[in-house]
Amino acid sequence: MSLISHLRALHSVDSLVRGIKTRFDNADSDRRRHQTQVDLLAGKRRDQEAQLRQIQATVANLELEDGTFKARLETLRSELNSSANPRQYNALRDELKVIEGKRDELAERILAQMENLEKLKTEMAASEAPLSDRTRLRDMAKAALEEAKAELGGRLAELEAQRERAAANLKEEAREAFDEAADRNDGEALAEVTIVSLRHREFACGGCNAELPLDAYSRVAAQNEQVVTCMSCGRILYMDNIPERPDAKKKAAAKKEAAIDPDGLG
Ligand SMILES: [Zn+2]
Repeated sequence: MSLISHLRALHSVDSLVRGIKTRFDNADSDRRRHQTQVDLLAGKRRDQEAQLRQIQATVANLELEDGTFKARLETLRSELNSSANPRQYNALRDELKVIEGKRDELAERILAQMENLEKLKTEMAASEAPLSDRTRLRDMAKAALEEAKAELGGRLAELEAQRERAAANLKEEAREAFDEAADRNDGEALAEVTIVSLRHREFACGGCNAELPLDAYSRVAAQNEQVVTCMSCGRILYMDNIPERPDAKKKAAAKKEAAIDPDGLG
């Protein structure tokens, strides 16, 4: 078998391996994409929960403080009621006013915290659906990946063994060139040489359309089991039909002509 036949055999099994791997990769990147969103939303949720606990603790502290003021006010009021001394009465009344002022201030602070709490609870309720939706998508993607692996895992192992056998038919240089070309071109490791103009010696890579130097064409056309790659895309070049060289044709024509017209006068 020729080099190109071995390369073709490797390419056909390599494509199947890549096809299955691409399916796995796509399923896995789906899963990872959803997982990233789940992590993001769950992280936000944890922050909100921490914030919620903090506000609740602040409110509890403020209420505790208010309770202390309230108790002090009750004491002051009863002392005020039983006070017979005007100076003591005034002093008690002043303290009462100060504490009442402090209680008003506290009430405002508690109210503000309660508002924050409500706002946060609304935000948390709104973030519940996106998180559960995304979790469901993540679980579906995970199941799809597992399903694909269960379905195709065995086949992939078989094909990989087959690919290894196909690769073993090639010399290391050809194998490396193939792997590099396949990796660079989504598995399309081989490309036929396009003859743009034989007369003008213009050739192109059938894979990427880059112009090929005459030397590359000549080496491919020589079909001497040599690996020739496109300088631009790295694909391994081949030609199924080698055209006759134009000068060879000319020579042949000249020869023919000479045979008909031995004097060469036409
Ligand atoms: Zn190319």
